[in-house]
Amino acid sequence: MAYKNDSLHVENVALAGLAMQHQTPLFVYSKAAMLSALAAYQRGFAGRKALICYAMKANSSLAVLQLFAQNGCGFDIVSGGELARVLKAGADPRKVIFSGVGKTKTEMRQALDAGIACFNVESIPELDVLNDVALSVGKVAPISLRVNPNVDPKTHPYISTGLKGNKFGIAHEEALVTYRHAASLKGLRVVGIDCHIGSQITEVTPYLDAMDRVLDLVANVEAAGIPIHHIDFGGGLGINYNGDTPPEADALWTQLLAKIDARGFASKQLMIEPGRSLVGNAGVCVTEVLYTKTGSDKNFCIVDAAMNDLPRPAMYQAFHGIVPCKPQPVRPAQEAIYDVVGPVCESGDWLGKDRALNVKSGDLLAVLSTGAYCMAMASNYNTRGRAAEVLVDGDMATLIRVRETAEDQMKMERML
Ligand SMILES: *Cc1c(COP(=O)(O)O)cnc(C)c1O
Repeated sequence: MAYKNDSLHVENVALAGLAMQHQTPLFVYSKAAMLSALAAYQRGFAGRKALICYAMKANSSLAVLQLFAQNGCGFDIVSGGELARVLKAGADPRKVIFSGVGKTKTEMRQALDAGIACFNVESIPELDVLNDVALSVGKVAPISLRVNPNVDPKTHPYISTGLKGNKFGIAHEEALVTYRHAASLKGLRVVGIDCHIGSQITEVTPYLDAMDRVLDLVANVEAAGIPIHHIDFGGGLGINYNGDTPPEADALWTQLLAKIDARGFASKQLMIEPGRSLVGNAGVCVTEVLYTKTGSDKNFCIVDAAMNDLPRPAMYQAFHGIVPCKPQPVRPAQEAIYDVVGPVCESGDWLGKDRALNVKSGDLLAVLSTGAYCMAMASNYNTRGRAAEVLVDGDMATLIRVRETAEDQMKMERML
């Protein structure tokens, strides 16, 4: 993303032109940015038995899934709906793994039918139910246990998942007895181990600590006579939202692989489940300034995107950069510190606080780093249609989702 001829571009396409053509709010993604994020992981795993499973909950638009499927990715899914999506996008079910703490029997049957690679199981009751479901359809379910390494990923509490107090995973101390139980069930086949310690992790240490804990378990479980074929190390690598400096994927994996090799597990199949780090910085949301409003304490820049389009600030007090699509002429009267807010009837509906902007009605702004957990979390609150999406590839822009209308939103409803 860069300014060219005074106008913000994604690859070779000007955002202002796209906004004119498709209106706002509009998500615009760069294909090159997604593929380059994927390439960092591919470099990290060069020459290894490894499968990169894109955690599609970060951005589950069909065209994005197609792009990753065409470039060799597997997928990490968390629902039957995601399975349906990824199959529609042309994914190979043998490269699909199923995570999540609350899989239903229907979802289990659906995934067994599709022939997915692995169920990442999070509790003994889930093991028992999956065993019953598999036996009832005459199949054997490949499973791994999601273990909880109890390390602090030093991220937002809502997206920290590997600590003892989290709802996720099987406690480290319980792992061996749970593996023994799994191995005793006829409808299950133990294939791996997995963990996922959180999201937007910007330090290497939590990963190294978690890796040590997981490898300890691999040794213990194998010593108990249960072979572990793959080690799935989850996702969670952070991106730069506001000067964050996460490690590069390949640099991180150089360190993790050294640990795996040093402990004698070099021959294991490796899996990872990155979401945000593959798509987050590949997307922007273009929004139009509707009004500026001078309050007694604050100035507000009211834009046409809102918390229903971009839920991260309201949900996690998250920061997104906000920049003009065209550098504005100097307009001293408009230059001020603004809270950038949407039209939704909630004080929580803000996109950015205390931003220095020089704006007037009709200007276009780009909300940065909105490729992950934005469109995928969008809602229809206030009966606002979900935004349109465009994928840019060089000079070419493809509309990959049309803007949702009020009619679309009412389609599922029935009048009295
Ligand atoms: C959300 C999630 C991921 C992806 O996390 P990112 O932070 O987006 O990389 C991977 N694995 C599991 C089990 C998840 O729940």
